[in-house]
Amino acid sequence: MSRTDDTPLPIEPDPPPAEPKRPREKPATRERRLIGIPVSPGVAIGPVFGAAEPPALITKTKIQATDIPAEVARFDAAIAQSRKQLLKLRARLGILPEDSQAEIAPMLDAYLQMIGASRLVRGVRKRIADLMVSAETAVVDETESLAEAILALPGEDDRAGRKRRAEEVREIGRRLIRNLTRAPFRSFTALPQGAVLVCESLRPADAALLDPSRLAGVATDEGGADGHTAIMLRALGVPAILGVAGLTQAAKPGETVIIDGAAGTITLNPDPATLTAARRAVTAYARELQKLASLRRLPAITADGETVELQANLEIPAELPLIAQSGASGIGLLRTEFLFMNRESLPDEDAQAETYRSIVEAMSGDPVTIRVLDWGGEKEIEALQSEGIVPEAADLNPALGIRGIRLLLREIDLFETQLAAILRAAASGPVRILLPMVTTVTEVRTARDIYERVIRRLRRRGERLPDKAPPLGIMIETPGAALSADALALEADFFAIGTNDLTMYTLAVDRGDSDVSSLYDPLHPAVLRLVQFATEAALRMRMPVSVCGEMASNPSFVKLLLGMGLRSFSMNASAVPRVKQAVRALAIDDCARFARRVMEQADPVAIREMLTGP
Ligand code: PEP
Ligand code: MG
Repeated sequence: MSRTDDTPLPIEPDPPPAEPKRPREKPATRERRLIGIPVSPGVAIGPVFGAAEPPALITKTKIQATDIPAEVARFDAAIAQSRKQLLKLRARLGILPEDSQAEIAPMLDAYLQMIGASRLVRGVRKRIADLMVSAETAVVDETESLAEAILALPGEDDRAGRKRRAEEVREIGRRLIRNLTRAPFRSFTALPQGAVLVCESLRPADAALLDPSRLAGVATDEGGADGHTAIMLRALGVPAILGVAGLTQAAKPGETVIIDGAAGTITLNPDPATLTAARRAVTAYARELQKLASLRRLPAITADGETVELQANLEIPAELPLIAQSGASGIGLLRTEFLFMNRESLPDEDAQAETYRSIVEAMSGDPVTIRVLDWGGEKEIEALQSEGIVPEAADLNPALGIRGIRLLLREIDLFETQLAAILRAAASGPVRILLPMVTTVTEVRTARDIYERVIRRLRRRGERLPDKAPPLGIMIETPGAALSADALALEADFFAIGTNDLTMYTLAVDRGDSDVSSLYDPLHPAVLRLVQFATEAALRMRMPVSVCGEMASNPSFVKLLLGMGLRSFSMNASAVPRVKQAVRALAIDDCARFARRVMEQADPVAIREMLTGP
């Protein structure tokens, strides 16, 4: 495709789209409350940022005649994607009170109508074909000309209605552009200090770009409790609620919003009494954090003297100070995906070694478990796509496709480079290496062969390495791995049980999907039996085993996990003090008796009640 800057394109504006049926407009001045999935505790008060998307910056470009069919196909794909997104938002409105549904549904219907057999769609196709412009150019120009035509309609009446309809046309244009460019949802550079980010969805790669010191809180329409976006937000310590039906349609930019990240409630345009109560809650939460901080230096020892290892998960280096404050005794899971995200090319061995070394040194002798790249599922990494290592389009079912160790064993260079970088960093402090998404013993054996080859190569190169090679462990995060744990224990040096994926794969419930979030339950007996089976296999072999999924961060769950025989947990840094507090109040014998009773239960609801109370 040849791309050149273009002058404004002459085209007659089409008549504006028909007005969809909707109730009379109500001024949004009253307090409104929405509910979502609580993913990161804390109370935030601030102005809504992001409810209206700024216009996408598109360079207008010309195409050649031969490119027209491909450009129309791109546009059709963006329409299909937009329809899917809007239908999903529409389907979730059912959980809202009727008056909220009546307010929001017509807006979504208007959007859906505009991307049906509409003038807008016909107009864009015509521009692409007749004027030979890119789909993005055609969308920008067509929506702008439609919006202007709506605003220019004669008559003094209903000026507000015309403005709103013009804005709706622009909004659908922005959605189409987002889907055409597959750009990250937004740029956060314009985020005002203390604002609450409100958007439809947030990818883990976008969450990694947030600056927690500028941001008061986050709320989105989509997302699940243990998806990677939720994990990232918890890691950043930003109060957050995901999966809030109707949110972006209800929230107005600039209006005040209160987020209670523990309760999962969002209050838009709060009245003065609610605001006062929320301010008190902010102070109380800060006080509670201070109190918990005083636990930092106390040992994680049960009431009857059993030592428990509490470590932190790390998703981005910005968390290092939080880890230092938390009292964690090392990093139990360093997710290395951050190094590969939001960049155009892959990091080389030196760049990776430097990053790992700085983290190992920052931990001053406490152990660091570095997991090799776990690409796949919702963890998108553009650099892998642009270098042709993974396909542009998602697989049919990305969670069941090339992911984790499967990719690394196919892309040996990528794997060897990362292993070499980790080994070099291991000269600076205690390190363990962790393989993600293992399902077979062959994967572990092959990975170990590669690992030993890399060690030999580095020694030949004269690199400074630790005398003893770092242990090579595996994630137990698929039912297949959990049920083969006895065989895998003969191949691996340690297990880290990843209850996030283990829950997802066992229950066939996407961990990031708000539609099925009520079914996502790590306390389901099937998941607990797999955790128990894997733990016992490791303990029989006297092999180190830990839990590093989100389950480990819930203080109410630690009694059960201790009772199963687990003594090592890794969690988001902010959870360490609360879990330590719980550990210090427990006695191992009680935990073991409790675990036996829990494991007799068949009903996840009954299990939850046993752990957290009715
Ligand atoms: C898990 O699956 O539990 C885990 C810790 O890995 P991640 O959340 O990175 O998939
Ligand atoms: Mg996982």
